[in-house]
Amino acid sequence: MHASPNVGRTGKQTQHRVTSGETALNLKTMFNNVGKVWTPDTFRDYLTTIPLTALRWFRGVCFHHTWFPSLSDRPNGFKANHIANMRDFYRTKDWRSGPHLYADDDQLWGMSELQERGVHAVGFNAGYVGIEVLGNFDVESPYAGRGNACWTTAMLGALCLLDRAAIPLSPMSIMFHREDPSTTKTCPGQLVKKEWVLQQMQTLDLPLRDTPTPARDLKMVSAICRANQVPCNLNVVGGQIKLNGVVLYTAVYDRLAEATFADLKEIEHAISHIK
Ligand SMILES: [Zn+2]
Repeated sequence: MHASPNVGRTGKQTQHRVTSGETALNLKTMFNNVGKVWTPDTFRDYLTTIPLTALRWFRGVCFHHTWFPSLSDRPNGFKANHIANMRDFYRTKDWRSGPHLYADDDQLWGMSELQERGVHAVGFNAGYVGIEVLGNFDVESPYAGRGNACWTTAMLGALCLLDRAAIPLSPMSIMFHREDPSTTKTCPGQLVKKEWVLQQMQTLDLPLRDTPTPARDLKMVSAICRANQVPCNLNVVGGQIKLNGVVLYTAVYDRLAEATFADLKEIEHAISHIK
């Protein structure tokens, strides 16, 4: 699927159009993960917060490329407003939902909730999580540089999903949009070979959920920020602790220590975000 307004035979998605009987509230809630972003590691943690029964609807993952924007259109990967703009674009088409995840060089950006089917490929909407990989892989290489980084992020995300839902990796659990008989697109790009993706996914290590990354007392964060010469805006918004606008999902209060700790990796990510 493509984000560009002038691309794609989006009329094919009519089976998922919002009917007049559906409420505006419904429309509003179908893109609930816009604003959420994970590294592959934190994504694996996040999946454990979703009951398994809510993940039974899918039997695999369907890969797409964004086509537009391409890698060169997004030299620094996605920003939150890019995802929000795509959601707004889909809403103008009356889509009830969109793809589930957008993968860039190092992060997975949420769009549609993983607990429900999305809208990304007519033939695969009902049984597959849709992951969009940043890039135009009709012309940009998936095998080196940023293209490879974006594919690696996407494949790690897919591995986490299969692992959580206990679905074996196979040519049936990993689909390419172009395998949908109802499309003539090359998506996720004619340069990407499915055998390569399957092979990569067999060799990639699943992000290590239980490996503790060093935790840091949040009282130390201002010193870390100072050392990195970035501002330190630590605050609580809607029950979530944010550092410079980035949610620290790993933040937990330790009763014994009477302090709040978060993964160092996540803190560093929040810091590098504005560097
Ligand atoms: Zn596609």
